[in-house]
Amino acid sequence: MATVKDKLIGHVQTSQKGSPRNKITIVGVGAVGMACAISVLMKDLADEVALVDVMEDKLKGEMMDLQHGSLFLHTSKIVSGKDYSVTAGSKLVVVTAGARQQEGESRLNLVQRNVNIFKHIIPDIVKHSADCIILVVSNPVDILTYVAWKLSGLPMHRVIGSGCNLDSARFRYLMGERLGIHSSSCHAWVIGEHGDSSVPVWSGMNVAGVSLKEIHPEIGTDHDKENWKKVHKDVVDSAYEVIKLKGYTSWAIGMSVADLGETIMKNLCKVHPISTMVKEFYGITNEVFLSLPCVIDNHGISNVVKMVLKPDEEKQLQQSATTLWEIQKDLKF
Ligand code: NAD
Repeated sequence: MATVKDKLIGHVQTSQKGSPRNKITIVGVGAVGMACAISVLMKDLADEVALVDVMEDKLKGEMMDLQHGSLFLHTSKIVSGKDYSVTAGSKLVVVTAGARQQEGESRLNLVQRNVNIFKHIIPDIVKHSADCIILVVSNPVDILTYVAWKLSGLPMHRVIGSGCNLDSARFRYLMGERLGIHSSSCHAWVIGEHGDSSVPVWSGMNVAGVSLKEIHPEIGTDHDKENWKKVHKDVVDSAYEVIKLKGYTSWAIGMSVADLGETIMKNLCKVHPISTMVKEFYGITNEVFLSLPCVIDNHGISNVVKMVLKPDEEKQLQQSATTLWEIQKDLKF
């Protein structure tokens, strides 16, 4: 007997629906993963979004909750599963799985716990999406991007860490608050390690091409009466502060991941401060990942912008590289 569907619809095409062309997977549906998911969905970046987690009830609940918003979205398919077959054919895989910082805990402290989790996740991602770009968000993000690169066997331009994309956004927000100017018009770069040893590039700070360092040479130094250094201190402290207040950070990292996702999915060739392999840049000799301004397109990182750094900025980068290598070299994976 003909069903309602048969009575309603006259078929033009009998073949099965094609495979997704712009699929994004998010691994880990905690606070950060779900902020990434909603941000990606609200920006219409994908025709399919897949979610993966080990907590099956939470995973199904999050998927259903998003699916129920389908009327208000422009992403035709939202799927989830513990098995990575649901991720097949992804262009971009965002990894947010893992333990998060406890109040007062440093990002570097999380490392071995999250390396063990990555050993299970990364090979499965690549098995089902050999051509994907992996965007690592889990902390400590720079070290875990290195771990993901090693475990995946992918070329380094396709393994990216969200790095200082968020730190730079925080910096530009705080700079904007001081100047009464929207952060999109406040240009500044925070590079290096995401977190405690990040490096603010004071020499490049500008509004409409006017260098703040030129009009206020003390900026960023200890002799600065306006104490602009505090802007960077507040950036470093901000995750700790938010975690103390609400238990975790989520919205800003979610939006910053969607911003990176947009550049990748739409092949925008925008420059972002994200974590990449920095061996041979600025005198760094070890295989570590740190944030530098990178040109990103549909294939991942195409180029690194060679920032002209002051000697002390370069030294700080080298120190971060040494700190990370000291931890990385003993990792078991
Ligand atoms: P959360 O505890 O809320 O969520 C983590 C999720 O990962 C959980 O749902 C858990 O079930 C899942 N998970 C654990 N093991 C897994 C596995 N093997 N496979 C799949 N899923 C697994 O934590 P959160 O607040 O969402 O934070 C996630 C990560 O993001 C943390 O490492 C945190 O430090 C990091 N983070 C990074 C930035 C950044 O700027 N890079 C910002 C904020 C948070």
